[in-house]
Amino acid sequence: MLSYNVATLLRSAPGTERRYPVENLEMEIAEDMRLAQPIEGEVRLSRTGRSIIARAHLTTAIEGYCSRCLTTITAPLEVDIEEEVLPSIDIDSGLPVNPADEPDALRLDDHHELDLGEPIREAISLAEPISMLCRPDCRGLCLVCGVDLNTVTEHEHAEETVDPRLAALAEWGDKPEAN
Ligand SMILES: [Zn+2]
Ligand SMILES: [Zn+2]
Repeated sequence: MLSYNVATLLRSAPGTERRYPVENLEMEIAEDMRLAQPIEGEVRLSRTGRSIIARAHLTTAIEGYCSRCLTTITAPLEVDIEEEVLPSIDIDSGLPVNPADEPDALRLDDHHELDLGEPIREAISLAEPISMLCRPDCRGLCLVCGVDLNTVTEHEHAEETVDPRLAALAEWGDKPEAN
């Protein structure tokens, strides 16, 4: 899905750019992070003198919980990636490039395929959602009783309000020990 053959692009003049739409793309991200919407956006690949620069702008959404009231939400996410990808095989000579020169570089495979799956998965897993609120003015949960304040119109506790069941317990605790 996110694999691009860049053999032709490698033979083009530096500065040449290709654009590829990303549409309706499903992807497993991580055990604790699930996409709530497919990934949409665009990948741009450009030729430099020595490499391919891959840029992507993608939008999606993840499943999560409102950080104030804990209801399930769909949190929108936007990621931009920019990666330089070096060849494994010299496009002109057909000879392998020595990867020891730049051991950490992202590489094309032996068939000049560029795979952006992993960089994109990583970028999404590290991205901070634009908002983790069910709505911008979410009122959250009552700190005293835990009621969802979005669902009630008037909600107040008197300063010393104690749950009647707790009051009973407190009273029971005050009773002198029976011998
Ligand atoms: Zn909320
Ligand atoms: Zn309350």
